[in-house]
Amino acid sequence: MTATATDQRAFNFSAGPAVLPVSVLEEVRDELLCLPGARASLLEMSHRDKVFLDILHQAENSIRELIGINDDYSVLFLQGGAALQFSMIPANLLRDSGKQAAYIQTGTWGKKAIAEAKKEGDVNVVYDAADTKFNHVPTAGDFNVADDAAYLYYCNNETIQGVQFQSEPTCPSGVPLVCDASSDFLHREVDITKYGLMYACAQKNAGPAGVTVVIIRKDLLDVGSASLPGYLNYKNHADADSEWNTPPTFAIWVLGKVAKWLQNDIGGLAAMEKINRAKAGVLYNAIDSSGGFYTGHAKVDCRSLMNATFTLPNDELQAAFLEQAASHNLVALKGHRSVGGIRASIYNAMPTEGVDTLANFMTNFAGKNS
Ligand code: PMP
Repeated sequence: MTATATDQRAFNFSAGPAVLPVSVLEEVRDELLCLPGARASLLEMSHRDKVFLDILHQAENSIRELIGINDDYSVLFLQGGAALQFSMIPANLLRDSGKQAAYIQTGTWGKKAIAEAKKEGDVNVVYDAADTKFNHVPTAGDFNVADDAAYLYYCNNETIQGVQFQSEPTCPSGVPLVCDASSDFLHREVDITKYGLMYACAQKNAGPAGVTVVIIRKDLLDVGSASLPGYLNYKNHADADSEWNTPPTFAIWVLGKVAKWLQNDIGGLAAMEKINRAKAGVLYNAIDSSGGFYTGHAKVDCRSLMNATFTLPNDELQAAFLEQAASHNLVALKGHRSVGGIRASIYNAMPTEGVDTLANFMTNFAGKNS
Protein backbone atom coordinates (compact mmCIF):
# COMPACT_ATOMS: atom_id res chain seq x y z
CA MET A 1 0.00 0.00 0.00
CA THR A 2 1.38 3.43 -0.84
CA ALA A 3 1.71 5.91 2.00
CA THR A 4 -0.70 8.85 1.86
CA ALA A 5 0.70 12.35 1.67
CA THR A 6 -0.33 12.84 5.31
CA ASP A 7 1.62 9.73 6.37
CA GLN A 8 4.72 11.09 4.66
CA ARG A 9 4.74 14.25 6.77
CA ALA A 10 7.55 14.45 9.33
CA PHE A 11 7.39 16.50 12.52
CA ASN A 12 8.56 19.78 11.05
CA PHE A 13 10.36 22.17 13.40
CA SER A 14 11.04 24.83 10.76
CA ALA A 15 11.20 28.42 12.01
CA GLY A 16 9.20 29.66 9.06
CA PRO A 17 7.51 29.12 6.77
CA ALA A 18 6.40 26.54 9.26
CA VAL A 19 4.02 23.78 10.19
CA LEU A 20 0.31 24.36 9.53
CA PRO A 21 -2.66 22.45 10.94
CA VAL A 22 -3.23 19.32 8.84
CA SER A 23 -6.99 19.95 8.80
CA VAL A 24 -6.36 23.37 7.22
CA LEU A 25 -4.08 21.89 4.56
CA GLU A 26 -6.67 19.23 3.78
CA GLU A 27 -9.37 21.86 3.39
CA VAL A 28 -7.16 23.90 1.09
CA ARG A 29 -6.45 20.78 -0.98
CA ASP A 30 -10.15 19.95 -1.23
CA GLU A 31 -11.22 23.49 -2.14
CA LEU A 32 -8.31 24.53 -4.33
CA LEU A 33 -9.69 23.41 -7.67
CA CYS A 34 -13.07 24.99 -7.11
CA LEU A 35 -14.21 26.96 -4.10
CA PRO A 36 -17.55 25.46 -3.05
CA GLY A 37 -20.32 27.33 -4.85
CA ALA A 38 -17.97 29.79 -6.54
CA ARG A 39 -17.38 27.96 -9.86
CA ALA A 40 -13.69 28.92 -9.82
CA SER A 41 -10.58 28.46 -7.74
CA LEU A 42 -9.82 31.18 -5.23
CA LEU A 43 -6.55 31.56 -7.15
CA GLU A 44 -8.49 32.59 -10.24
CA MET A 45 -10.88 35.04 -8.68
CA SER A 46 -10.89 38.83 -8.57
CA HIS A 47 -9.94 40.32 -5.23
CA ARG A 48 -13.06 42.48 -5.63
CA ASP A 49 -15.36 39.50 -6.11
CA LYS A 50 -17.88 39.24 -3.28
CA VAL A 51 -16.68 35.69 -2.60
CA PHE A 52 -13.18 36.93 -1.85
CA LEU A 53 -14.42 39.98 0.05
CA ASP A 54 -16.34 37.61 2.33
CA ILE A 55 -13.16 35.59 2.88
CA LEU A 56 -11.22 38.78 3.65
CA HIS A 57 -13.85 39.95 6.15
CA GLN A 58 -14.04 36.53 7.79
CA ALA A 59 -10.25 36.49 8.25
CA GLU A 60 -10.39 39.99 9.75
CA ASN A 61 -13.33 39.15 12.00
CA SER A 62 -11.70 35.96 13.25
CA ILE A 63 -8.55 37.86 14.18
CA ARG A 64 -10.61 40.58 15.84
CA GLU A 65 -12.57 37.98 17.83
CA LEU A 66 -9.53 35.92 18.81
CA ILE A 67 -7.55 38.90 20.10
CA GLY A 68 -10.48 41.07 21.16
CA ILE A 69 -9.77 44.01 18.85
CA ASN A 70 -12.30 46.85 18.97
CA ASP A 71 -13.17 49.55 16.44
CA ASP A 72 -10.39 51.83 17.64
CA TYR A 73 -8.04 49.67 15.55
CA SER A 74 -7.71 48.82 11.86
CA VAL A 75 -6.60 45.35 10.84
CA LEU A 76 -4.65 45.41 7.59
CA PHE A 77 -3.44 42.62 5.31
CA LEU A 78 -0.27 43.75 3.57
CA GLN A 79 2.56 42.37 1.46
CA GLY A 80 6.31 42.88 1.73
CA GLY A 81 6.76 40.60 4.73
CA ALA A 82 7.67 41.68 8.20
CA ALA A 83 10.77 43.29 6.72
CA LEU A 84 8.73 45.99 4.97
CA GLN A 85 7.30 46.93 8.36
CA PHE A 86 10.85 47.72 9.52
CA SER A 87 10.62 50.61 7.05
CA MET A 88 6.88 51.37 6.98
CA ILE A 89 6.70 51.95 10.73
CA PRO A 90 9.33 54.70 10.84
CA ALA A 91 8.19 56.06 7.46
CA ASN A 92 4.72 56.64 8.92
CA LEU A 93 5.42 57.37 12.56
CA LEU A 94 8.89 58.94 12.60
CA ARG A 95 9.58 60.71 9.30
CA ASP A 96 9.09 64.50 9.58
CA SER A 97 7.84 64.12 13.17
CA GLY A 98 10.72 66.02 14.77
CA LYS A 99 10.74 63.27 17.39
CA GLN A 100 13.02 60.42 18.35
CA ALA A 101 11.92 56.77 18.18
CA ALA A 102 12.90 54.42 21.03
CA TYR A 103 13.99 50.86 20.16
CA ILE A 104 14.71 47.84 22.34
CA GLN A 105 17.23 45.46 20.77
CA THR A 106 16.96 41.88 21.99
CA GLY A 107 17.95 39.96 18.87
CA THR A 108 18.57 39.82 15.16
CA TRP A 109 15.15 41.05 14.05
CA GLY A 110 15.17 44.06 16.33
CA LYS A 111 18.64 44.89 15.06
CA LYS A 112 17.46 44.80 11.46
CA ALA A 113 14.48 46.98 12.30
CA ILE A 114 16.77 49.55 13.92
CA ALA A 115 19.02 49.68 10.84
CA GLU A 116 16.00 50.51 8.67
CA ALA A 117 14.53 53.03 11.12
CA LYS A 118 17.82 54.96 11.14
CA LYS A 119 17.28 55.68 7.46
CA GLU A 120 14.04 57.47 8.35
CA GLY A 121 14.95 59.52 11.38
CA ASP A 122 16.38 59.82 14.84
CA VAL A 123 16.58 56.51 16.71
CA ASN A 124 17.45 55.95 20.35
CA VAL A 125 18.34 52.36 21.25
CA VAL A 126 17.17 52.42 24.86
CA TYR A 127 18.18 48.85 25.60
CA ASP A 128 20.65 46.58 23.83
CA ALA A 129 21.19 42.94 24.80
CA ALA A 130 23.92 42.34 22.18
CA ASP A 131 26.71 42.05 24.80
CA THR A 132 25.15 38.86 26.14
CA LYS A 133 24.58 37.39 22.67
CA PHE A 134 20.92 38.28 22.98
CA ASN A 135 20.14 35.75 25.69
CA HIS A 136 17.60 37.82 27.64
CA VAL A 137 15.05 40.63 27.59
CA PRO A 138 15.08 43.69 29.84
CA THR A 139 12.89 44.06 32.89
CA ALA A 140 11.16 47.22 34.13
CA GLY A 141 13.74 49.77 35.22
CA ASP A 142 16.44 48.52 32.82
CA PHE A 143 15.69 51.32 30.35
CA ASN A 144 13.96 54.66 30.02
CA VAL A 145 11.74 56.00 27.28
CA ALA A 146 11.22 59.74 26.87
CA ASP A 147 7.62 60.94 27.28
CA ASP A 148 7.78 62.57 23.86
CA ALA A 149 9.22 59.59 21.93
CA ALA A 150 7.52 58.93 18.56
CA TYR A 151 7.00 55.32 19.68
CA LEU A 152 8.67 52.45 21.54
CA TYR A 153 9.50 49.49 19.31
CA TYR A 154 10.32 45.95 20.40
CA CYS A 155 10.21 42.39 19.08
CA ASN A 156 8.16 40.19 21.40
CA ASN A 157 9.81 36.94 20.33
CA GLU A 158 13.24 36.88 18.76
CA THR A 159 12.94 33.88 16.46
CA ILE A 160 16.67 33.27 15.98
CA GLN A 161 17.81 33.58 19.59
CA GLY A 162 14.63 32.13 21.15
CA VAL A 163 14.05 34.89 23.72
CA GLN A 164 10.56 36.13 24.43
CA PHE A 165 9.06 38.93 26.49
CA GLN A 166 6.71 37.52 29.13
CA SER A 167 4.74 40.77 29.18
CA GLU A 168 4.82 44.15 27.46
CA PRO A 169 7.82 46.41 28.19
CA THR A 170 7.01 49.48 30.26
CA CYS A 171 6.12 52.40 28.06
CA PRO A 172 5.05 55.96 28.96
CA SER A 173 1.28 56.24 28.54
CA GLY A 174 1.37 58.76 25.68
CA VAL A 175 3.95 56.84 23.65
CA PRO A 176 2.60 54.25 21.16
CA LEU A 177 3.98 50.77 21.80
CA VAL A 178 4.95 49.05 18.53
CA CYS A 179 5.49 45.31 18.45
CA ASP A 180 6.96 42.85 15.99
CA ALA A 181 4.88 39.77 16.84
CA SER A 182 5.91 37.85 13.73
CA SER A 183 6.96 34.64 15.43
CA ASP A 184 4.47 34.50 18.28
CA PHE A 185 1.32 36.06 16.84
CA LEU A 186 -1.86 34.42 18.19
CA HIS A 187 0.09 32.20 20.60
CA ARG A 188 -1.63 33.63 23.71
CA GLU A 189 -4.16 36.22 24.75
CA VAL A 190 -3.00 39.80 24.51
CA ASP A 191 -4.41 43.14 25.66
CA ILE A 192 -4.25 45.00 22.35
CA THR A 193 -5.23 48.30 24.01
CA LYS A 194 -1.66 48.48 25.31
CA TYR A 195 -0.40 48.76 21.74
CA GLY A 196 -0.32 51.46 19.11
CA LEU A 197 0.69 48.97 16.43
CA MET A 198 1.30 45.24 16.31
CA TYR A 199 2.35 43.38 13.21
CA ALA A 200 3.19 39.86 12.16
CA CYS A 201 4.18 38.11 8.97
CA ALA A 202 1.96 35.06 8.71
CA GLN A 203 4.42 32.35 7.81
CA LYS A 204 5.33 31.30 11.34
CA ASN A 205 2.25 31.02 13.46
CA ALA A 206 -0.65 32.12 11.30
CA GLY A 207 -0.50 30.92 7.70
CA PRO A 208 1.62 30.80 4.57
CA ALA A 209 4.18 33.38 3.44
CA GLY A 210 2.80 36.36 1.53
CA VAL A 211 0.66 38.26 3.98
CA THR A 212 1.57 40.46 6.93
CA VAL A 213 -1.10 41.44 9.44
CA VAL A 214 -0.86 44.98 10.81
CA ILE A 215 -3.10 46.00 13.71
CA ILE A 216 -2.91 49.76 14.05
CA ARG A 217 -4.70 52.22 16.35
CA LYS A 218 -6.73 54.51 14.11
CA ASP A 219 -5.29 57.77 15.42
CA LEU A 220 -1.89 56.65 14.12
CA LEU A 221 -3.23 56.45 10.58
CA ASP A 222 -3.18 60.23 10.37
CA VAL A 223 0.43 60.66 11.42
CA GLY A 224 1.98 59.56 8.10
CA SER A 225 3.38 62.23 5.86
CA ALA A 226 1.48 62.99 2.63
CA SER A 227 4.75 62.59 0.74
CA LEU A 228 4.94 58.86 1.44
CA PRO A 229 4.79 56.48 -1.53
CA GLY A 230 1.21 55.26 -1.70
CA TYR A 231 1.81 51.64 -0.73
CA LEU A 232 3.84 52.69 2.30
CA ASN A 233 1.05 54.80 3.79
CA TYR A 234 -1.04 52.82 6.30
CA LYS A 235 -3.96 55.18 5.80
CA ASN A 236 -4.38 54.16 2.17
CA HIS A 237 -4.73 50.51 3.17
CA ALA A 238 -7.10 51.25 6.04
CA ASP A 239 -9.33 53.50 3.91
CA ALA A 240 -9.49 50.85 1.17
CA ASP A 241 -10.15 47.91 3.49
CA SER A 242 -6.84 46.23 2.50
CA GLU A 243 -7.83 46.57 -1.17
CA TRP A 244 -5.73 49.61 -2.07
CA ASN A 245 -4.06 47.24 -4.50
CA THR A 246 -4.44 43.49 -5.04
CA PRO A 247 -3.94 41.84 -1.67
CA PRO A 248 -2.32 38.37 -1.36
CA THR A 249 -5.58 36.50 -1.78
CA PHE A 250 -4.29 32.94 -1.29
CA ALA A 251 -2.35 33.76 1.86
CA ILE A 252 -5.34 35.61 3.33
CA TRP A 253 -7.60 32.65 2.54
CA VAL A 254 -5.34 30.22 4.39
CA LEU A 255 -4.75 32.64 7.26
CA GLY A 256 -8.53 32.88 7.68
CA LYS A 257 -8.73 29.09 7.90
CA VAL A 258 -5.94 28.97 10.51
CA ALA A 259 -7.78 31.61 12.55
CA LYS A 260 -11.01 29.56 12.33
CA TRP A 261 -9.05 26.47 13.42
CA LEU A 262 -7.86 28.41 16.47
CA GLN A 263 -11.41 29.45 17.26
CA ASN A 264 -13.25 26.20 16.61
CA ASP A 265 -10.77 23.36 17.09
CA ILE A 266 -8.49 24.84 19.76
CA GLY A 267 -11.07 27.01 21.53
CA GLY A 268 -9.35 30.40 21.46
CA LEU A 269 -6.08 31.93 22.58
CA ALA A 270 -6.29 31.07 26.29
CA ALA A 271 -6.62 27.39 25.35
CA MET A 272 -3.80 27.79 22.80
CA GLU A 273 -1.48 29.27 25.42
CA LYS A 274 -2.15 26.36 27.77
CA ILE A 275 -1.16 23.89 25.05
CA ASN A 276 1.88 25.98 24.10
CA ARG A 277 3.07 26.14 27.72
CA ALA A 278 2.69 22.39 28.09
CA LYS A 279 4.60 21.71 24.86
CA ALA A 280 7.42 24.11 25.73
CA GLY A 281 7.58 22.64 29.25
CA VAL A 282 8.26 19.18 27.84
CA LEU A 283 11.02 20.47 25.60
CA TYR A 284 12.79 22.65 28.17
CA ASN A 285 12.56 19.81 30.67
CA ALA A 286 14.50 17.63 28.23
CA ILE A 287 17.20 20.33 28.16
CA ASP A 288 17.26 20.89 31.92
CA SER A 289 17.29 17.22 32.86
CA SER A 290 20.15 16.36 30.48
CA GLY A 291 22.86 16.96 33.11
CA GLY A 292 24.39 19.77 31.06
CA PHE A 293 24.51 17.81 27.77
CA TYR A 294 22.16 20.39 26.24
CA THR A 295 22.71 24.08 26.98
CA GLY A 296 19.78 26.41 26.45
CA HIS A 297 20.66 29.77 24.91
CA ALA A 298 17.97 31.94 26.53
CA LYS A 299 17.93 32.76 30.21
CA VAL A 300 15.27 30.66 31.89
CA ASP A 301 12.92 33.55 32.67
CA CYS A 302 12.62 34.62 29.04
CA ARG A 303 12.64 31.32 27.21
CA SER A 304 10.49 31.37 24.12
CA LEU A 305 7.34 29.26 23.94
CA MET A 306 7.81 29.20 20.18
CA ASN A 307 11.52 28.71 19.39
CA ALA A 308 13.68 26.64 21.74
CA THR A 309 17.38 27.21 21.05
CA PHE A 310 20.17 25.06 22.48
CA THR A 311 23.61 23.66 21.81
CA LEU A 312 25.34 20.29 22.28
CA PRO A 313 28.86 19.76 23.65
CA ASN A 314 30.53 19.94 20.21
CA ASP A 315 29.94 20.25 16.47
CA GLU A 316 30.32 16.51 15.80
CA LEU A 317 27.57 15.66 18.28
CA GLN A 318 25.42 18.41 16.81
CA ALA A 319 25.77 16.95 13.31
CA ALA A 320 25.00 13.44 14.60
CA PHE A 321 21.97 14.82 16.47
CA LEU A 322 20.52 16.36 13.31
CA GLU A 323 21.16 13.25 11.24
CA GLN A 324 19.65 10.84 13.76
CA ALA A 325 16.72 13.18 14.48
CA ALA A 326 15.83 13.12 10.79
CA SER A 327 15.71 9.33 10.85
CA HIS A 328 13.28 9.62 13.78
CA ASN A 329 10.93 11.76 11.67
CA LEU A 330 12.12 15.03 13.27
CA VAL A 331 13.21 17.61 10.68
CA ALA A 332 14.30 21.26 10.26
CA LEU A 333 16.05 21.44 13.64
CA LYS A 334 19.24 23.20 12.51
CA GLY A 335 19.75 26.55 14.22
CA HIS A 336 19.85 29.75 12.16
CA ARG A 337 23.08 30.07 10.17
CA SER A 338 24.07 33.19 12.12
CA VAL A 339 24.11 31.50 15.55
CA GLY A 340 24.40 27.75 14.92
CA GLY A 341 23.21 25.14 17.40
CA ILE A 342 19.77 23.60 17.37
CA ARG A 343 16.44 25.41 17.12
CA ALA A 344 13.16 23.62 17.63
CA SER A 345 10.28 25.82 16.53
CA ILE A 346 7.10 24.60 18.16
CA TYR A 347 4.46 26.95 16.84
CA ASN A 348 0.72 26.61 17.50
CA ALA A 349 0.26 23.94 14.85
CA MET A 350 3.07 21.65 16.07
CA PRO A 351 1.24 18.67 17.55
CA THR A 352 2.01 17.68 21.14
CA GLU A 353 3.07 14.30 19.78
CA GLY A 354 5.85 15.99 17.80
CA VAL A 355 7.26 17.67 20.89
CA ASP A 356 7.00 14.45 22.91
CA THR A 357 8.82 12.56 20.17
CA LEU A 358 11.57 15.18 20.07
CA ALA A 359 11.97 15.26 23.86
CA ASN A 360 12.24 11.45 24.03
CA PHE A 361 14.77 11.47 21.21
CA MET A 362 16.81 14.16 23.00
CA THR A 363 16.87 12.21 26.26
CA ASN A 364 17.93 9.00 24.52
CA PHE A 365 20.57 10.80 22.45
CA ALA A 366 22.03 12.46 25.55
CA GLY A 367 22.03 9.13 27.42
CA LYS A 368 23.99 7.43 24.63
CA ASN A 369 26.47 10.24 24.06
CA SER A 370 27.20 11.70 27.51
N1 PMP B 1 10.61 39.57 12.49
C1 PMP B 1 10.70 38.35 13.02
C2 PMP B 1 10.52 38.20 14.51
C3 PMP B 1 10.95 37.24 12.22
O1 PMP B 1 11.06 36.01 12.76
C4 PMP B 1 11.11 37.42 10.83
C5 PMP B 1 11.34 36.26 9.88
N2 PMP B 1 12.10 35.25 10.31
C6 PMP B 1 11.03 38.71 10.32
C7 PMP B 1 10.76 39.76 11.17
C8 PMP B 1 11.18 38.97 8.84
O2 PMP B 1 10.10 38.44 8.16
P1 PMP B 1 9.96 38.48 6.55
O3 PMP B 1 10.89 37.45 6.03
O4 PMP B 1 8.51 38.15 6.33
O5 PMP B 1 10.29 39.84 6.10
